[in-house]
Amino acid sequence: MPDIIRLLPDGIANQIAAGEVIQRPSSAVKELMENAIDAGATDIRVIIQDAGKALVQVTDNGSGMSAADARNCFARHATSKITGIDDLFHIKTMGFRGEALASIAAVSEVILKTRREEDEWGTCIEIDNTTLRKEEPVAMAKGTSISMKNLFFNVPARRNFLKSNASEMRHIVEEFMRIALAFPEIFFSLVSGSQEMFHLEKGSLKQRIVQLLGNGYNARLIPVQENTDYLNIFGFAGKPDTAKKTRGDQYFFVNSRFIKSPYLHHAVMTAYQELIPADSFPVYTLFIDIDPSQLDVNVHPTKQEIKFTDEKIVYAFVQAAVKHALAQFSVTPTLDFDL
Ligand code: ADP
Ligand code: MG
Repeated sequence: MPDIIRLLPDGIANQIAAGEVIQRPSSAVKELMENAIDAGATDIRVIIQDAGKALVQVTDNGSGMSAADARNCFARHATSKITGIDDLFHIKTMGFRGEALASIAAVSEVILKTRREEDEWGTCIEIDNTTLRKEEPVAMAKGTSISMKNLFFNVPARRNFLKSNASEMRHIVEEFMRIALAFPEIFFSLVSGSQEMFHLEKGSLKQRIVQLLGNGYNARLIPVQENTDYLNIFGFAGKPDTAKKTRGDQYFFVNSRFIKSPYLHHAVMTAYQELIPADSFPVYTLFIDIDPSQLDVNVHPTKQEIKFTDEKIVYAFVQAAVKHALAQFSVTPTLDFDL
């Protein structure tokens, strides 16, 4: 009998790995926006065509890349953000796995344009199916623009699995809003087809929440702020009369990263217990800043689930912070200021 084990070619291995990171157009929106943030951008513009099935383009004014880095950033496990396993416990960046661009390049046609401040020319690279098709110098402003075209053109089974444009667009707006909420000091825009859906000038957190969730919240947000040696909590909780019968507009961020946590959601719910009807949901945008060594963000590739070293303490702090804020509000109902 001959030996039967073979190494998969890079293109196939990347296509398989891509399934974990890039499930739909909105996954690319998230990954590309996070890369722009990690590059120190203050201006991030997202352009979508055909709900991201034809095009997702993210343009930033961040650090840019050298020509060699522009070629290398599409390799699997290529990252400038960590060098060793110890770094995993001190992560300050949104990315660190070096998987996003490799995954995107394996399942779409990519055009990258990038220029650093110190370089006279930028670099334009075209890749599809993990193969470099073209590289040439390009005149451009400092920063990076990545276009992901025809997602899953080479994986028909996954392309067929994509939902209606309305549904894919909802996912995109959701990812866009999560990131825009966490970085009010950055300008963001989102254009879909010929329509500018969001145009978010830089401002305070409160201004960003109002831009995204609606003017109705302007006078109906209670500041939450508790600082301890272990963690800091800040953000806004809606006044009890903003509670809704349906879920939505509940946001938790840990070290600027959006997370899903039924456990911490429960902590907030109990803080509101006596104030809102049992079948309704409070609106909140809460940030927890904690020493990265106290958590493990490496649990899931999309990083939406995290593990706290001591979950119970975090629960207690969140509950106390929201309770405290709500109590202050009912004593002084006009209290209202920007963080
Ligand atoms: P990760 O973000 O986990 O490092 P990615 O595949 O998303 O992995 O990106 C690979 C590398 O490409 C990054 O570490 C970074 O050095 C570079 N890069 C990606 N996007 C940008 C960007 N918008 N601006 C500057 N550098 C970028
Ligand atoms: Mg990344």
